[in-house]
Amino acid sequence: MSAYDLVVIGTGPGGYVCAIRAAQLGLKTAVVEKRKTLGGTCLNIGCIPSKALLHASELYEEAGHGFEAMGIKVGKPKLDLAAMMAFKDEGVDGNVKGVEFLMKKNKIDVHVGTGRIAAPGKVEVTGEAGTTTLETKAIVVATGSEVAPLKGVAIDETRIVSSTGALALPKVPKKLLVVGAGVIGLELGSVWRRLGAEVEVVEFLDRIVPGIDLDVARQFQRILQKQGFAFRLSTKVTGIDKSGARLKATVEPAAGGEPVVIDCDVALIAIGRVPYTDGLGLDAVGVALDPRGRVITDAHFATNVPGIYAIGDVIAGPMLAHKAEDEGVAVAEILAGKAGHVNYGVIPGVVYTTPELATVGRTEEDLKAAGIAYNVGKFPFTANGRAKVNRTTDGFVKVLADAKTDRVLGVHILGPDAGNMIAEAALAMEFGASSEDIARTCHAHPTLTEAVKEAALAVEKRALHM
Ligand SMILES: Cc1cc2nc3c(=O)[nH]c(=O)nc-3n(C[C@H](O)[C@H](O)[C@H](O)COP(=O)(O)OP(=O)(O)OC[C@H]3O[C@@H](n4cnc5c(N)ncnc54)[C@H](O)[C@@H]3O)c2cc1C
Repeated sequence: MSAYDLVVIGTGPGGYVCAIRAAQLGLKTAVVEKRKTLGGTCLNIGCIPSKALLHASELYEEAGHGFEAMGIKVGKPKLDLAAMMAFKDEGVDGNVKGVEFLMKKNKIDVHVGTGRIAAPGKVEVTGEAGTTTLETKAIVVATGSEVAPLKGVAIDETRIVSSTGALALPKVPKKLLVVGAGVIGLELGSVWRRLGAEVEVVEFLDRIVPGIDLDVARQFQRILQKQGFAFRLSTKVTGIDKSGARLKATVEPAAGGEPVVIDCDVALIAIGRVPYTDGLGLDAVGVALDPRGRVITDAHFATNVPGIYAIGDVIAGPMLAHKAEDEGVAVAEILAGKAGHVNYGVIPGVVYTTPELATVGRTEEDLKAAGIAYNVGKFPFTANGRAKVNRTTDGFVKVLADAKTDRVLGVHILGPDAGNMIAEAALAMEFGASSEDIARTCHAHPTLTEAVKEAALAVEKRALHM
């Protein structure tokens, strides 16, 4: 008889949430984690520490530039970077301890060590005390992702850093070069710019934040430039020389051409993340991967080997914590005989810069490519009373609705607190709402959310405050 109904390998947001849901449904569950603390990339070196630094650095900048206009005189704020890092570490610690508590509360066994699938139904765990074998009916692989390497550039996590090193720099670099204008590069670039670094971003594509609605991305770039970000688009980094006191990065046009050398103190390599399956033994048991190294799963998260499932960053789809969580819940429900499901059309994505950028659903580019006729409603924060009084008027809300049915197909918010506001749009889309449904919903005044209602009204060209 199997000791467990389910063994989950990896305790990121995918793995630990899957384990909790399985335990709630009565499955005897264990997790395996090779890191010393639970919570995966997200809690230890991802979402949580980056948001702690974004929060602290935003307040630091606000204290230096925004307080006086509101009649608050505090003098020039002084940065104590070590204390700011301690604040971040404390936040991480509180969160990882929270996951430990949840494992205990739900009677989930935690096995510390590296998990390897010896065979379907058998997970070998190698930890400090040696190797043990867990017998189980089902295995969920939730081993996440790691930093994508840049060819010819070795990350040392001191001067040439990944996001992990960029979350723990001991001093503010005079100049930070960010390679990659995606979410992580722009968030961590924002942290260090606010703390005093000159930030230049090099991006291979001719635009920033690939995948985001282009109109929104262009406006976002203009706002970031106003804040002091410099961008070199359609440019690739071909090497970084670290022999001197400063780094020398060689860049050239993406299409080929004359190289240029950029001096900097720290280079952040943020060109993406790749699935992590090292040491899992997937080859030996015959679990199939796609050409990008992602575990191939069907609609029920099952791999090609019976009894082995996979979720989160290690499979296809957006590499986001909440996507991993929802997959964790769905696969646990499926294993317990219920109808678990994830609606991939309604997964919000947020860039936690100032202003924030939050999106859900389809972009204009998507809709054009699919030949779907749509109407656009846009409303700027300059016309929203709360944003005006708070002096946070950068950005707008954009609602895309089906031209025939008025069903909301996508919502894009560039503006203050966009990450919280996108929840309304996600809920509306999950319920199949029309733009008229949002427009007829009473929104409290004065709130930023009125901009969402106004953008929905604007779909039929009847915004009230514009
Ligand atoms: C700097 C940064 C900021 C981010 N910010 C956000 C954000 O704001 N919002 C958001 O939604 N997403 C964010 N992400 C992405 C998010 O962290 C990931 O999408 C999420 O962590 C994926 O969850 P997961 O459970 O699939 O895997 P992970 O969180 O990567 O967890 C996998 C776990 O598996 C363990 N593991 C791997 N192999 C084994 C093995 N063989 N045996 C035992 N254990 C193993 C690893 O140690 C790890 O703990 C950010 C990422 C980074 C790097």
